[in-house]
Amino acid sequence: ERMNKILEIDKDNMVCVSEAGVTTSVLQDAVQKEGLFYGGDPCSGDSCFIGGNVATNAGGNRAVKYGVTRDQVMGMEVVTPTGEVVTLGGKFRKNATGYMLMHLFIGSEGTLGIITKVYLKLVALPKYQQDLLVVFDNLDDAIALTPKVMNAGITPVCVEFMDNASIKQVEVFLDEKLPKSENGNYIIIQIAGDNEDVLMDQCEKIVELAEDNNAIDSLVADPAVIWKSRKAYLEADRARSLVFSMEDIVVPMTEIPGAVQQISRLGEKYNVAMHCAGHCGDGNVHIDILKDDRTQEEWEEMLPKIQGEIYALVYKLGGRLSGEHGIGYKREALLEKYTDPVELKMMKAVKKALDPKNIMNPGKVVSINDEVPVEE
Ligand SMILES: Cc1cc2nc3c(=O)[nH]c(=O)nc-3n(C[C@H](O)[C@H](O)[C@H](O)COP(=O)(O)OP(=O)(O)OC[C@H]3O[C@@H](n4cnc5c(N)ncnc54)[C@H](O)[C@@H]3O)c2cc1C
Repeated sequence: ERMNKILEIDKDNMVCVSEAGVTTSVLQDAVQKEGLFYGGDPCSGDSCFIGGNVATNAGGNRAVKYGVTRDQVMGMEVVTPTGEVVTLGGKFRKNATGYMLMHLFIGSEGTLGIITKVYLKLVALPKYQQDLLVVFDNLDDAIALTPKVMNAGITPVCVEFMDNASIKQVEVFLDEKLPKSENGNYIIIQIAGDNEDVLMDQCEKIVELAEDNNAIDSLVADPAVIWKSRKAYLEADRARSLVFSMEDIVVPMTEIPGAVQQISRLGEKYNVAMHCAGHCGDGNVHIDILKDDRTQEEWEEMLPKIQGEIYALVYKLGGRLSGEHGIGYKREALLEKYTDPVELKMMKAVKKALDPKNIMNPGKVVSINDEVPVEE
């Protein structure tokens, strides 16, 4: 928390050099004041740190256009588990100088070293931005809009969705009426650029595609209202059921409609509240499974069954068990179960090589406790 300084905004090289403990939204605002733009934008931006974003390879809303945190990182300073300090990468945009070790640390969840400084890529701040809210009474139609927009030659900044149950939960949480919440499912699309006419043409095209896909309404959205609602999804579920499981699956874009369709039906099968929302522009879907007033015993019996069905489907569709939240302790056993043994062996070899005493977040991501005991 004391490493909270933005060290440099280098406008010519379009790079921001930041200590790891700078809050993401603080960095976004600081570069924006200089007419620049940082592409990373996890929904937790007001509370998470840049170092945490890099350590988890955070995704977020703008990944469709700008990529995930990995795509923003040009370099970093790391303190290794053996107590050395190393700088990997730097202010340059290309690097073919040996193994790109920096990428091992991105998404390593603190298991390989401590990231203390980050070099982040900046781009020019787009002049215009437009947020559209497209409402469907059918979730399948809503989700199916995504590939159609992407294939129409439009690259939105964000394509997000919320199912009707999530919208209703957010309404209760924020104590605010949201548009068409009675039976609506939302697709939220943000487009941005420097030419207002092109942007308007893109809006019209999206509305046309939405109508062809049975949308019941297309609205120019108030960004403050619509993004507050989208970002409140997780906290709204937590307020209803303190215990819940948040799944974070990712599938190829074309498989999203099928995946969401089948997963959301599990709620009926198990008679449990399952709320779906997420980043459908990049195939990343969050599914909150709520414990509500079930006993702990019932919950522990039911949850693995639902997860088993979800992950069997996701892997059948060519997906993975986490798109952006990572593995931590929660999914370590699942990673072990679903990952190709060769890939898993490589992950463990990297962990053992860089952290021989297993002192960095032991037990997170991959467990090597049996093989490498921590020395006294
Ligand atoms: C409301 C809400 C919305 C969210 N929305 C999104 C979203 O849209 N997209 C998304 O990807 N994620 C989202 N997340 C999860 C997101 O990944 C994290 O919020 C964020 O990226 C983690 O940063 P943090 O600073 O909070 O890290 P923490 O949660 O504190 O740490 C995460 C992990 O990284 C390690 N770590 C932290 N800092 C460092 C460091 N400097 N060096 C090495 N290891 C480190 C920790 O040990 C831990 O294992 C959301 C979370 C919440 C609560």
